[in-house]
Parts: sequence; structure tokens; C-alpha cells
Amino acid sequence: MQYTHHTKAAISKTPPWKIALGDAIRSASELLEFLDLDPKKIKYFEPKNSQFPMLVPRSFAARMNKNDPHDPLLKQVLPYTEEKNKTPDFVPDPLQEFTLTQHGFLKKYPNRALLITTAACPVHCRYCFRRHFPYKANIASSGQWDKTIQHIKKNKDIKEIILSGGDPLSLSTQRLEKLLVSLTHIKSVEVVRVHTRFPIILPERIDQELLDLIVKMNLPIVIVVHCNHPNEINNEVMKGLQKLRSTGSTLLNQSVLLKGINDEVAVLKKLSERLFECGVLPYYLHLLDPVTGTQHYKVDDNFAKELITTIKKSLPGYLVPKLVREVPGELSKITIA
Ligand code: SF4
Repeated sequence: MQYTHHTKAAISKTPPWKIALGDAIRSASELLEFLDLDPKKIKYFEPKNSQFPMLVPRSFAARMNKNDPHDPLLKQVLPYTEEKNKTPDFVPDPLQEFTLTQHGFLKKYPNRALLITTAACPVHCRYCFRRHFPYKANIASSGQWDKTIQHIKKNKDIKEIILSGGDPLSLSTQRLEKLLVSLTHIKSVEVVRVHTRFPIILPERIDQELLDLIVKMNLPIVIVVHCNHPNEINNEVMKGLQKLRSTGSTLLNQSVLLKGINDEVAVLKKLSERLFECGVLPYYLHLLDPVTGTQHYKVDDNFAKELITTIKKSLPGYLVPKLVREVPGELSKITIA
């Protein structure tokens, strides 16, 4: 989905988070200029639309350190030329999701169904495991949503629905409401889980309309945010997360272990502590999925295990995320440490 510029009249009705997305940085050179970085000293490229384009909201860029080419937030979003290196073990669809998806419905695990609700995200993370996902062919139109809802109704073993994407909070609150209400009408569905990076990237998304919708839902809601580094959490993010928490939702975090970004004991510890201050418990620390174009983010398995072993010695168990890997065909994620 593309966000476009709005006319003055339209802007007055557009929620602030959509305006912020319309104004996001969409080129590497613009981001480097914003950060006072010399583009000649950094090996980057400008991706075309077909190559997973750049998308970085200005408020997220403002959390990056100026004049620091090693900033951990910058490294998550800048297209480095290393993306173009060919590494045989890195493939477009390592989790074999392309063939498992039908009309936006992905049944990876028993008792749970994952819905690909949208292709849109608040940011484009260069390490994304769905960066090559064929969204056009796999997003349901509203007619197909009805089919998907019927399918869930018939499969009474499905107890939990995971809203994924893209990022499900990219949907307008009205569309989200329609979808959530249809899910609450299915007796066998007991929990709805929302996987989202919005509360971290664009906390403006946690507006009153969304909070009211969550409160009035007749189902337990689990919100799994995605935060990789403590510098992602500023005061606005903290306030947004605390508001989400006040709806009675369970808040968890998943991170991806990324080389040169968060592969340090001190960084991971601080991340867990900051999340806890915001009412969020660390849940998963994912080993990188071997997706084409992301090889430069890979952290060695043994080093990852050592990190977790060390963290366990100085944090209470509830602040230590599980180190996991997703393996296609397995009924759940594999816990490494
Ligand atoms: S927000 Fe999530 S789905 Fe979107 S690009 Fe980042 S990791 Fe991928």
C-alpha cells in the first residue's frame, strides 16, 4: 500500500499517524542528509520499488544519533550494498510461507491461524523475513475475507487468530474493527493476537479510537510488539505502550538478533529493562531467518547462545527472552536457549 500526499481538506480528517507516514523518508540519500552523514563514506544503494523500497518515518529517524554511521536504528533501515551479495543459504522464502498461504490465511501451527491482513508497514526493516513475500497474490480482498472467516468458523480447532502482515495496525481502525468483530462472532476463537511494530515506530497510532476499539472487544487481546534496541523507546513510545497496557491487553515483545545492532549483553539487558518499564515482557529473540539480502545481519548461533547464558545470570527469568529459530514444517518455534 502506498501512502500519498493529501490535500489540505483531506489532511484535516486524516489521523496524525497517516500524515506522518505520508511524510516519511523514502530515499537513502535523504536519510543520510537528515543525519548529517557523508554519503560518499557509506556503501549504500537506492532500492527500486521492486527491491523493497525505503520507508522511515521522520520521528523514528529523529531517534537516530546524528553523524553516527554505526547508529543501531540507522543500520536496521539503510539499504547497504551488502544486500546484493549472493549467499547460497539465503533464499527468498526460507520459511516456505509462499505455498502455505491462501487468500491471506496461513495455517502454520495447529490451533492457530495467521492472517496476512495487509502489505503495509510503518517502516521497512531491511532484515524483514517477509521482504520477498508475494503480497499482491496473497492478500485477501474483502470478499475473500468472508471466505477466510467462514473457513475459521468451520475449523473449530483454531483457538487463536494472529493478525500479521505487513503490519495489521496499518489498516484503518474502521477496517480493523470490522475484522475483529467478525472474529469475536466465531465461538471457537478464544484469543486474538496482533503482531505489530507500530507502537514502537509510530506511537501516534495508539490513538483514542484504537484504544476504545480494543477495550470494547469481547476477547482477550495479546499485542506482540517488535523492538530491537533500547534507543527505539523514547517518551512517546513509552506513553503509547502504557496506554495499550491500560486496555487490559497482554503486551509482549519480539526482537531479531542483528549483527552490529543488538548483539551485545548490555544492549539486550537495557532493552529488557526499558520494555518492562513500559509494561511489556520480552518474549522472543529470533535468530535471523536466512532471507536473500539479509546475510550481513547474521549472528553466529554459538555466540547468540553465549549472550543469553550471560544475560540469564544478571536478569530475572521473566526479563530474559527465549532465543528461538523458526524451522519450516515444525509445529512450533525451536528454542535454542
Ligand atoms: S515492520 Fe515487520 S513486517 Fe514490516 S518490514 Fe519490519 S519486520 Fe517486516
